[in-house]
Amino acid sequence: MSRKNIVAGNWKMNLNYEEGLSLFSEIANMAKDEVIGHQEIVVCSPFIHLSSIVKLAETSNKVSVGAQNIHQAEAGAYTGEISASQVRSVGAEYVILGHSERRAYFGETDALLAQKVDVALKHQLKPIFCIGETKEERESGRFFEVIKTQLEQGVFHQDATDFSNIVLAYEPVWAIGTGLTASPEQAQEVHAFIRETLTQHYGEQVAGQTTLLYGGSCNPSNAATLFAQKDIDGGLIGGASLKSRDFIDIAKVFN
Ligand code: PEP
Repeated sequence: MSRKNIVAGNWKMNLNYEEGLSLFSEIANMAKDEVIGHQEIVVCSPFIHLSSIVKLAETSNKVSVGAQNIHQAEAGAYTGEISASQVRSVGAEYVILGHSERRAYFGETDALLAQKVDVALKHQLKPIFCIGETKEERESGRFFEVIKTQLEQGVFHQDATDFSNIVLAYEPVWAIGTGLTASPEQAQEVHAFIRETLTQHYGEQVAGQTTLLYGGSCNPSNAATLFAQKDIDGGLIGGASLKSRDFIDIAKVFN
């Protein structure tokens, strides 16, 4: 996968089955009518919607579908969990891994996430791998170190070929769902650091081809200035992805 502009929505644990299908249909229709660039639009829904929205996505051909989590094991006695192969079997293409809510509320460590990345790639699911610092880590000035460790322990065990199927999302934890957005300069500073860290590990060509998304209170008013930054290739959108108009307006920044 080469570098591209992606706007991905993370619905989190919102919307019942009907509401999800209805929102997805609106998004798919608006995308068909209004999105004219080469940007990719991805919707990461709860598991219950996946199979149905994949079918709706086929009719518009403009929106890809992803999950928000998978279990690290292939299959087996893990009551209540969902595997990478199950997600792939309904036609989803992406999976969000390492979201700060999963790190914070479900104790997901870098080591566990490394296993999830392995099993996702093995089953041809493209991880949208999230990294980012907490408020305390930003204020203490340790954020570069935190982000480097998340990369080293979560994804750097992949060879360059497998790594090329990973999308990275920089999501400062202090900006998620808080209405506090990183300024375009703050976001670009970290994105440039990420690309430089990728260059040191994989070389310039791989680093230059990696898609780097920004996430954290992105909305139609701030998306254009964020996405105009040199190393920001798009966004991972939480709250605003639950409103079709806002989500499509964010995607249209790349028209
Ligand atoms: C997210 O949860 O990935 C996110 C970016 O949320 P929000 O846009 O609501 O800050």
